[in-house]
Amino acid sequence: MLRLLMVLLALACFSPFICSGHSDTTVIAAERAYFELPDKKIGILKSIYEKQNLSFLVLHDDENTGLNAARTFCRSNGGTLTELQYGNVRNISFGGQLPRFAFDPNQIFNNKGLQKSLKTYSVGKANEAMVKMVRGLALSLLDIYKPDSLGYIITLHNNTDGNFGIQSYQPGGYLFGVADSVYVNPEMDADDLVFVTEPVFFNYLKQQNINTVLQSKSALDGSLSVYAQMNRIPYVNIEVEHGHDEEHLRLIYVVEQMFKEVRFNEFYAKSK
Ligand SMILES: [Zn+2]
Repeated sequence: MLRLLMVLLALACFSPFICSGHSDTTVIAAERAYFELPDKKIGILKSIYEKQNLSFLVLHDDENTGLNAARTFCRSNGGTLTELQYGNVRNISFGGQLPRFAFDPNQIFNNKGLQKSLKTYSVGKANEAMVKMVRGLALSLLDIYKPDSLGYIITLHNNTDGNFGIQSYQPGGYLFGVADSVYVNPEMDADDLVFVTEPVFFNYLKQQNINTVLQSKSALDGSLSVYAQMNRIPYVNIEVEHGHDEEHLRLIYVVEQMFKEVRFNEFYAKSK
């Protein structure tokens, strides 16, 4: 029902200056949909640039370094950019006054992960119906981003200096065990890295001397990377520290080159 509502609210629109809210002259079309939770309206905006190229996805609405880098890339090289819009914060909260509920939009891609996220961030106790309702956001987002027809997922994330980085995946780090392999270039900032699910991507990026993490198959949270791995969709997350705009753009170009050089679509097609 909620998905139906969302589809009804979806607008395919060919006047980007009205629809997208920003003035990218190379945006030729924008698709905007809304997903409604109690006392919360979440926007899903897909900007389609003039030339065909990679499709990017930004989940966290306060991570504007990634968004800006993707826009800069798409203006020159084409592509599409899909983003969630819910008020420039990290977590999505809903339910109005207390009890108030909240979750991390990168923990909505399976029931268990979402339950855990709601439990961590909500004031009130979330029930099954609520989990089902929020899971609809994941389905709506995937309907718009379309990883199945792309044959891949490329997300962009930003982090804060020192809290998270390549060292988080190494022995002693709080994410140790999430990664099968880690490659560190000591000359790069430890907060700037590319996180992938395919060994072929890991090997390519290692050769390019880029901080790289290969996700372990035993990682089982509600994140998009786990969803991608379980559904065998090749996944790339380009993650840099807030404000490292140039580095984010550089790593996007590295990934663009990787997609030209590494033959992974055949691998994905065979796995389906
Ligand atoms: Zn993020």
